[in-house]
Amino acid sequence: MSLEALDAALVECRACPRLVAWREKIAAEKRAAYRDETYWGRPVPGFGPVDAKLLIVGLAPAAHGGNRTGRMFTGDRSGDVLYAALHAVGLANQPTSTHIGDGLALHGTRITAPVHCAPPDNKPTPSEFKRCRPYLVQELKLFGDIKVVIVLGKIAFDAFLTAYQEKGGVVPKPRPKFGHGVAVDLPGGPRLICSYHPSQQNTFTGKLTRPMFQDIFDQAKAALSE
Ligand code: SF4
Repeated sequence: MSLEALDAALVECRACPRLVAWREKIAAEKRAAYRDETYWGRPVPGFGPVDAKLLIVGLAPAAHGGNRTGRMFTGDRSGDVLYAALHAVGLANQPTSTHIGDGLALHGTRITAPVHCAPPDNKPTPSEFKRCRPYLVQELKLFGDIKVVIVLGKIAFDAFLTAYQEKGGVVPKPRPKFGHGVAVDLPGGPRLICSYHPSQQNTFTGKLTRPMFQDIFDQAKAALSE
């Protein structure tokens, strides 16, 4: 399956009744600040070129971010932090991501998620993770030359490792533990770098500062150059 075919199938997916209802409710009701916009309200595909060497795995689209704009981490505060960090190491051509058509391009980087529809309270259920997993497994097969993976948060870490194993990747035993800044070379595979998620909950409380987040991308850039 090509990346185009995968993304085309993904955006038509209605496999999770709770998430379909939620994403469409949000799209119909809208936030007051965006009332004149047409929300995407569908599954949000991964973003970035097929020759990517860096894969970034988030959690799920934000209700008024990706679910509004149709692009990963676009139009929300998490995206402001993420794209600024990518731009600082030359992996994005601009530091902001406001809407499709804003001219943003990623260099050698793909951003995806284990769940492609916005969930209530940003919390997909275990069965929703399971139902969406084949998309990530397929994406991992298509991006066979990935050298570095950054997982954003413990949930993304667990979801990535499960999908990675399912696609035939080897996960060390004992299984690595998540921690901000932890890096693991997966046997015969990419280097896995763990980061806290750049959510407002983490950035507003100081659990994740901009320098802490930038360190992750500096580490990734160095690993890509090795
Ligand atoms: S979360 Fe994934 S499996 Fe569920 S409806 Fe959205 S795209 Fe389909």
